[in-house]
Amino acid sequence: MMDHAKLAQLLFPHVTQTPQQLLEEVFPPRGLKDSALVTRFAPSPTGFLHIGGVFTAMVGERAAHTSEGRVILRIEDTDKKREVAGGVGQIVQGLRDFGITFDEGATGDDTEQGDYGPYTQSKRAQYYHVFCKDLVEKGLAYPCFCSAEEIADLRAGQEEKGVTPGYWGEYAKCRELTLEQIEENLKAGKPYVMRMRSPGKPGDRVKYKDGIRGDIEMEANFVDVVLLKSDGIPTYHFAHIVDDTCMRVNQVIRADEWIASVPIHLQMFWLCGLKAPKYAHVSPIMKEEDGSKRKLSKRKDPEAAVDFFVEEGYPAEAVVEYLLTIANSNFEDWRKQNKTAHYNEFPFKLNKMSASGALFDMMKLNSVSAEVISRMDNVQVYEQVLAWAQRFDAALYGLLAADPDYGKALFAIDRGGKKPRKDIVKWTDVPGYAAYFYDELFTRDEELDMDKALQKQVLEAYIPLMDCADDKDTWFGKMKDICEPLGMSPDVKAYKAAPEQFKGHVGDVSAVVRMAVCGRKNTPDLHAIMALLGQEKCLRRLKDYMTELEGKPAFTNVIPGHTGFVIK
Ligand code: GLU
Repeated sequence: MMDHAKLAQLLFPHVTQTPQQLLEEVFPPRGLKDSALVTRFAPSPTGFLHIGGVFTAMVGERAAHTSEGRVILRIEDTDKKREVAGGVGQIVQGLRDFGITFDEGATGDDTEQGDYGPYTQSKRAQYYHVFCKDLVEKGLAYPCFCSAEEIADLRAGQEEKGVTPGYWGEYAKCRELTLEQIEENLKAGKPYVMRMRSPGKPGDRVKYKDGIRGDIEMEANFVDVVLLKSDGIPTYHFAHIVDDTCMRVNQVIRADEWIASVPIHLQMFWLCGLKAPKYAHVSPIMKEEDGSKRKLSKRKDPEAAVDFFVEEGYPAEAVVEYLLTIANSNFEDWRKQNKTAHYNEFPFKLNKMSASGALFDMMKLNSVSAEVISRMDNVQVYEQVLAWAQRFDAALYGLLAADPDYGKALFAIDRGGKKPRKDIVKWTDVPGYAAYFYDELFTRDEELDMDKALQKQVLEAYIPLMDCADDKDTWFGKMKDICEPLGMSPDVKAYKAAPEQFKGHVGDVSAVVRMAVCGRKNTPDLHAIMALLGQEKCLRRLKDYMTELEGKPAFTNVIPGHTGFVIK
């Protein structure tokens, strides 16, 4: 008869605490209300932040904070091969950039906050050993000295016989080792792993309720799964049991690739005499390709990496807001009713998540982002663009930083009010949007569908009258005034009633001025643009356009690196 207490002492002489002591003294209950969810996001420190990771982290953060609970950022570094120097800091910063805030856990490469730490698994070895020793004492875990070769032979033999391969039941030969044999192996310095003694047998079933997918029934575990590897480091499974218990996590939210492991986890919790947390498995974000759906891939899809969104200049809140639209289908309705509310006021519900993976839809992201930007005021836009340009567009940064008042003023045009313009989708659009405010960025790559001679006549008549300081009515009045002498109509309705009587109308006059001053057919409020540009610049552009219409290239003061006029 095996003396389990003796074996436990032999294997873990350094462990003096029991799980009960730990849970009472080191990791006591949190004292939150019953409905408060304690969740965690648990990345490996690879430095790479997948948009699906941001999605899962956001779901965990929303679930915790909408229930007055807590959310933890735990670093799962048990697989040292995947670790990248500085990887934790990059992940922390990436999540922070997306406005995802954690109450506890890693705050940088070597820093953390909270009372339930350490929050990095490699620093928690002692706790895994406490729980493992306890299992050994109860006869529910044992050391296994089988080499990789022996395990491979076992598997091959099982496959030949047609039995389920794995270290289980009668095939788990180290289950039967005596204390003397174990002592001998230890003395000989043989490496070993710790395995749990599964009470299951093939064909057993297990049921659980998933917070997103509802009732799930699966085959129960019957394999003697490894708890600690030969270096004493836990497997993902055992670390999950110990950490989520100690950190008092009551709602596990993780990617659905872990669903297959739930039977192992439920059995481990049960063997340890612990209450399992609730589970919710988040479906991956999908991509449509050639008519079928597949997971967004780190290798194939640039938009899988969060850096893509940062470089393209999508504001972080736009990305989060988009992720909320795919997380909870009622988010968009809520947004329509609550136009100015912060998204954190949305009553997020885990059980409203869809069980099938949402499709990543760039068009939808663009429209959400344009909405989000349209709700910002000009100072917010200026500051976000400046911060983005500092990293990704030195020319734009130089221009915006040189005159902040001018920069803020250009973003104020047609902003605010009931129908703000939605023509900026992401910050990479800004150089195009702001082009006509800066000579250095100015281009004319559109052409008016209008007789060139008439355009020239419009300019000749308008130039002597133009005054950028005019109020809007006076400014528009002058455009009307030049219509009749040119055979055009100052009144668009009158023109439409008898187009054959006119060469055009006042809208065509403003189109010529717009093309001259801005180099394009569509812009926000032209009067406001001209007022901001000022008399000297406007006059020069009107004259330059005249020269262009005459077929001669206009004088331009283009700085190196910019295209300047494009003459067609
Ligand atoms: N470290 C695991 C992963 O990156 C986390 C799974 C979990 O959240 O439990 O997939």
